[in-house]
Amino acid sequence: MESDFKLRAQGLTRDYAGTRAVDGVDIALAPGEILGLLGPNGAGKTTTLRMLAGTLAVTAGTVTLAGHDLAGEPQRAKQHLGYLPERPPVHPELTVDEYLGFCARLHAVPRRQRREAIAAARADCGLEDTGRRLIGHLSKGYQQRVGIAQAIVHRPDVVILDEPTAGLDPNQLRGIRELIARLSRAHSVIISSHILSEIQATAARVVIMHQGRIVMDEPLGETAAPVVEIALREAVTA
Ligand code: ATP
Repeated sequence: MESDFKLRAQGLTRDYAGTRAVDGVDIALAPGEILGLLGPNGAGKTTTLRMLAGTLAVTAGTVTLAGHDLAGEPQRAKQHLGYLPERPPVHPELTVDEYLGFCARLHAVPRRQRREAIAAARADCGLEDTGRRLIGHLSKGYQQRVGIAQAIVHRPDVVILDEPTAGLDPNQLRGIRELIARLSRAHSVIISSHILSEIQATAARVVIMHQGRIVMDEPLGETAAPVVEIALREAVTA
């Protein structure tokens, strides 16, 4: 049944100046699931995630959230989806709470609920003591936590994180992986990476993209891992 899935994309397609970057992608995200979108550079991951998040127009295809077509309901997308872009804007001059307050307003969190929403997002992201800190004074790992906090400040059903662990050191990486695992208690999550071990560390299912198409969609158990590795290697070297 359509509404068994939190988010469902069917036939997602995107052309850039006549070149097809994403070609007929079908993705279904179950409640509470962490789905990993894996693929080499240029495979079409970011383009797919932007179409899912509603920040990029589709050339063809549909995105539905609990059965509602998001194309005609941008407000629903704003309220029920959270999105961390691959290169999120950093606002070094703002405090964490100022920035989260701004994002809460953007996502139409009612004024009287904003303080509580910001505190909850900070707590979920391990940012309890940072509300008054300037973002520019935080480490890259903590700035990434702020990026995830802005994606969940309005308590969306679905959280879309584009390469959330890229460029982090091992310690920061561990913290963000744990944070993503915790997110699935309250949200369905899609994360992208071009590194298999990143997806293995966090996701229960992997979708591999290559040249704009899905070449594999598999649960990630121990037995599946070697198959996934072969598929990814083939995608990278094809
Ligand atoms: P990466 O891991 O490097 O971010 P990706 O899998 O996210 O790669 P996309 O960024 O979605 O891939 O790019 C898919 C294809 O679309 C690539 O060939 C890319 O060059 C092209 N592309 C992406 N954005 C644009 C754009 N704004 N204009 C033209 N072509 C684009």
